[in-house]
Amino acid sequence: MKIKDYYGEGQCPECHCEIPDDAKVGEQCACGHTYVNTFKKITVGYVIQEYQTFGDTHVCLKQEFVAGEVQYESTQYGDQIDTVDTLKETYCPPDMKQPKQIPSEDEAVKFVCPGCGDDRVEAVLDGSHTTSIEAMFKSGGIEYGDTESTAYLDRFQCVGCGYHILDSEGCTIKDDEELVEWCKKNCNQE
Ligand SMILES: [Zn+2]
Ligand SMILES: [Zn+2]
Repeated sequence: MKIKDYYGEGQCPECHCEIPDDAKVGEQCACGHTYVNTFKKITVGYVIQEYQTFGDTHVCLKQEFVAGEVQYESTQYGDQIDTVDTLKETYCPPDMKQPKQIPSEDEAVKFVCPGCGDDRVEAVLDGSHTTSIEAMFKSGGIEYGDTESTAYLDRFQCVGCGYHILDSEGCTIKDDEELVEWCKKNCNQE
């Protein structure tokens, strides 16, 4: 399909001049109108998820997308377009978020705050965090990279009231396993 075929009667919607036969996505009419200025890049492929067995459950630890064929579609008109100049495309990798481990209901340990009853607990970190700046745009925007942290765990606390979790000797708990044990002992697990 040609660019002009997306537009009624093959004319620019703004100045009504004839759109040339060889117009490409993103090119402009003499009046300044951009032809098909948004489009979708559709990558067909498949997802590979890697599972590991823990006890009697299989848990997904890793996933990746393996890209196959690519096609383009006009956002406004929904049709397939084949006049995208791919050399003008900035590369955007099809990254996938890695899965979080969420235990099943009977494997989960519950937190119940002794102070306010809230069931949310958080880790408070102290120290510095730095994020690299990948690029700056002339328009003023900044693209940030990954955040590096040299932070250490300061304490665990209730999200609701800030209740500070201490062990039986009154010392701050700073260990994952100790927190789990504390919850098993001090919070209603029913
Ligand atoms: Zn025009
Ligand atoms: Zn609380």
